[in-house]
Amino acid sequence: MADKPTVIALEEHYLDPEVRQHGSPGAGPDIVRRLDDLSDLRLKEMDAAGIDLQVLSHTIPGLQAVDAAAGVPLARRVNDRLYEAVQRHPDRFAAFAALPTADPLAAADELERSVTRLGFKGAMINGMTDGHFHDDRRFWPIYERAQALDVPIYIHPALPHPAVIEAYYKDYVETHPGILRAGWGFNVETATQGVRFVLSGVFDAYPRLKIILGHMGEGLPFFLWRISHGLRGSLGERSFRDIFCAHFWITTSGFFSDPALICCAMEIGIDRILYSVDYPFAENQLGSEWIKTLPLSPEDRSKLLAGNARRLLKL
Ligand code: ZN
Repeated sequence: MADKPTVIALEEHYLDPEVRQHGSPGAGPDIVRRLDDLSDLRLKEMDAAGIDLQVLSHTIPGLQAVDAAAGVPLARRVNDRLYEAVQRHPDRFAAFAALPTADPLAAADELERSVTRLGFKGAMINGMTDGHFHDDRRFWPIYERAQALDVPIYIHPALPHPAVIEAYYKDYVETHPGILRAGWGFNVETATQGVRFVLSGVFDAYPRLKIILGHMGEGLPFFLWRISHGLRGSLGERSFRDIFCAHFWITTSGFFSDPALICCAMEIGIDRILYSVDYPFAENQLGSEWIKTLPLSPEDRSKLLAGNARRLLKL
């Protein structure tokens, strides 16, 4: 690995050939071709966009769509294959583990194996597991282990719960399919996970637990004042903002907006904002054009592009 990569992107996806049999990412052929590639095409597009290092993670729905019996042995094969891909280009790739969350204790063990044996930097969890949000107590063994290993857990969107699609979106799904994804559904679903993590008390149980949210924190930084006000009194002495700002990091994945960035920097501080593209769902070039004119000082710019990731992921 280069001593100091100057642009690190950490919500960058791929698709494991065995996991794809359990669930489709719902992407077109151009995106799937890029999800499949962990070599020439990906490296060429990283070079063109000035990205030194991608932290790779499995795309949606990933192992969250696989039951415990199949998921536990599959996770080892998936992470071992990802390890081999990283080893082929160790100066260009790092990795987040895929976890078989249908069996939380096995998922915690796989997290530990991935971090201690394979050198992974944490894990990414997509959407829900069997209809359960991941703040549920059944998943806490994963967070206990993440704290012990001092690695972050990246909570990533997946399609909304079927009952939510039915109640909120179904009359627009056909004409505006993006409504379920980046067009709205992803953001609401994942922001809800973020709020629920704070309400669950998991950060009291594991006070050094670190959670990453993509897509500028799924909108939560913008809402911090109002959520804190709305929840005043029910969270004990700390406010929602206090807890969020102590435990969450956010990335710019698929969200290249100056006003959104400034809002996030004002609310949670530049030290907790990390550059990401969300390749190949967002094009590297969109991000590379945006970062040419970031409204940040040189010091803050280098924190956002690499320094914060180096510190959080110990790269
Ligand atoms: Zn993503």
